[in-house]
Amino acid sequence: MKTAVVTGGAGFLGSHLTDRLLAEGYSVIGVDNFITGNRANLEHLKNEPRYSFIEHDVSKYITIPGEVNLIFHFASPASPIDYLELPIQTLKVGSLGTHNALGVAKAKGATFLLASTSECYGDPLVHPQKEDYWGNVNPIGPRGVYDEAKRFAEAMTMAYHRYHKVDTKIVRIFNTYGPRMRLKDGRVVPAFIGEALKNEPITVFGNGSQTRSFCYVSDLIDGIYKLSQCDFHEPVNIGNPIELTIKEFAERIVRLTGSKSTISYQPLPVDDPKQRRPDITRAGKLLGWKPVVDLETGLKQTIDWFKSRV
Ligand code: NAD
Ligand code: UDP
Repeated sequence: MKTAVVTGGAGFLGSHLTDRLLAEGYSVIGVDNFITGNRANLEHLKNEPRYSFIEHDVSKYITIPGEVNLIFHFASPASPIDYLELPIQTLKVGSLGTHNALGVAKAKGATFLLASTSECYGDPLVHPQKEDYWGNVNPIGPRGVYDEAKRFAEAMTMAYHRYHKVDTKIVRIFNTYGPRMRLKDGRVVPAFIGEALKNEPITVFGNGSQTRSFCYVSDLIDGIYKLSQCDFHEPVNIGNPIELTIKEFAERIVRLTGSKSTISYQPLPVDDPKQRRPDITRAGKLLGWKPVVDLETGLKQTIDWFKSRV
């Protein structure tokens, strides 16, 4: 039986990835310090003999017992509110945490997969974003702590591949949503659904003309799993290329929840990217992957999940 390690395993994506790895026959070791994660995301695994958990801050030296075949480095605050509140921890986990996780991969002869992000493209001047675009990031702005940490993490990952011959992969994840997101993590999907379910005003930042493209979590995890099994080392975008404005998105949530909410316009956060859409040609050619869950279906499942939690 192969063993996978998932750092950030108690988070939204880490817990879904864990479920997929267990379904694929892996035994899984989760590592998390719960800084933005949730024990409830792992509750269903408490009697799973192939799952074990280590509570640990991966920015400090990591010790994993036994053989390891695959390491998924997902630990990092991920929502703009989280990384604005945790700037130093975000920089540390992207830099020191990535270095430590790569060190484990090198010592164990394991494959390493980095959860990187569309934020590497910053406020992009090229649209849609292809992997060969170097990005437009403000290093000293409030989002710089996350963007630059992930860009450093990518550079470190490529260095371990080139100089230590570690088998590495990099996924650039675009906005993903689904059950197990934290209601108050500040990201647009839980924020709008929470407000709509309570019939409170939907807080659209700016005039709502900025765009995003939303990928349902099962599609994302499928792409990441396929990438982990393939022999390719440069970054691969995984996301849904259907783009809509945040105002359109707010209207969609109001309709799907049957809410009485109105829209309230609030100031746009500093450096908020104006447009974002992945070019997924590379993932299609390399992995035969494309998203299959449409926005309406994914949002209905997510809304159902949040209904008992608002
Ligand atoms: P999340 O906050 O739900 O999960 C992150 C997990 O990492 C949490 O459980 C947190 O406690 C843990 N963590 C953070 N710092 C740690 C540390 N120093 N040591 C141990 N554990 C630590 O966020 P998520 O949405 O699941 O994101 C997971 C990964 O995917 C992150 O690396 C994020 O940057 C990346 N990503 C996510 C999205 C998205 O749309 N969800 C988009 C782009 C990139
Ligand atoms: N946004 C919003 N209201 C909110 C939360 C977010 O209008 O309550 C906007 C935000 O300004 C951004 C988009 O929705 O343009 C997506 O924000 P999110 O925090 O989900 O992630 P981002 O894509 O910016 O990393």
